[in-house]
Amino acid sequence: MNKQKIPVAILGATGSVGQRFLEMLINHPWFEVVELAASDKSAGKKYSEATNWIMQTPLPEKYANMIVKKCEPNLSAKIAFSGLDASVAGEIESAFASSGYYVISNARNHRFDDDVPLIIPEVNPDHLQLIRSQKYKGGIVTNPNCSTIGLVLALKPLNDNFGIEAVNVVTMQAVSGAGYPGLPSLDIIDNVIPYISGEEKKMETEPLKILGKLNSNKIDFADIKISAQCNRVAVIDGHTECVQVKLKTKTTIEEIKKVWKEFRSIPQELDLPTAPKNPIVYFEEEKYPQPKIQRNIEKGMATSIGRLRECPLFDFKFVILSHNTIRGAAGGTILIAELMKSEGYF
Ligand code: NAP
Repeated sequence: MNKQKIPVAILGATGSVGQRFLEMLINHPWFEVVELAASDKSAGKKYSEATNWIMQTPLPEKYANMIVKKCEPNLSAKIAFSGLDASVAGEIESAFASSGYYVISNARNHRFDDDVPLIIPEVNPDHLQLIRSQKYKGGIVTNPNCSTIGLVLALKPLNDNFGIEAVNVVTMQAVSGAGYPGLPSLDIIDNVIPYISGEEKKMETEPLKILGKLNSNKIDFADIKISAQCNRVAVIDGHTECVQVKLKTKTTIEEIKKVWKEFRSIPQELDLPTAPKNPIVYFEEEKYPQPKIQRNIEKGMATSIGRLRECPLFDFKFVILSHNTIRGAAGGTILIAELMKSEGYF
């Protein structure tokens, strides 16, 4: 253990998001993974036996030999990154926070608790202050849904500069978003499934909290109408979304491109280790963005945007792409932890 680094544990370490945490944290300058935890079926096994490693980089030796622990709040690391299944995340995360741990979670369970911040570090870093009003000895911070994050990164500069009245979004979401092993191959190969349980409601409500205003100890939700339709497609990583927006003030295509290209925020100012230099990358080529080609731009931490044009129904329409297990999960969570460290939470 490197004494200069902050020890962290991964809850749900064997899953698809858990693996991405390990891959992203192996050489992290501030955090060191010292404990891995998962369900009772994995606990007691070597990590290499408990998981089916599906990352494209080899499983680091250091993790392969670790013994997986139970998700009980008796771990030595006081910071836990959670990639737990939502069926169990709520109670486990509360138990950890009550026992003095800081939990930064990818699961949906606590996202709408009044005192739990739902954070995209470039969008609403000020909402972190909600932690101070939590009843826990430690605290819980949540990362939004994977398809919400890419969308809200694109919406933030539009809302700040022109005001947003309404959004319509149709998603084409990667199979890795369903966890491992996910959908049976016979269901998804050669197919599009026009339903992802709970996803449309998340996309229609989470942006309102994230783009809301901190008002003493609560968030006043943004007043934007959002309609979402979510589809699962045969792509491994990277959610693509076709978006239409209605704005409160008139603007032009050139102005919108300019505010996207110039968008920078606190993570860039602080030069946080996982922050993309450009949170939004705009492509002029009509055929982009494509998941196979652009998902790893800025190490998977940017939202790629293209095809901005006028819309006869709304004001403008465009296409976005973001990596669901990096920016949409593990990478987004690590960036939140970096922001918390920079702001003195630990
Ligand atoms: P996953 O591959 O199914 O992994 C789930 C993890 O939860 C595994 O480590 C599993 O451990 C653990 N787990 C299951 N039951 C448990 C129990 N009773 N006690 C303790 N641990 C238990 O799911 P995932 O895709 O990584 O997603 C993890 C979370 O992140 C979910 O809440 C998901 O909604 C959210 N999320 C996922 C994505 C994405 O793109 N995949 C993006 C954003 C957010 P075992 O292996 O031991 O069963």
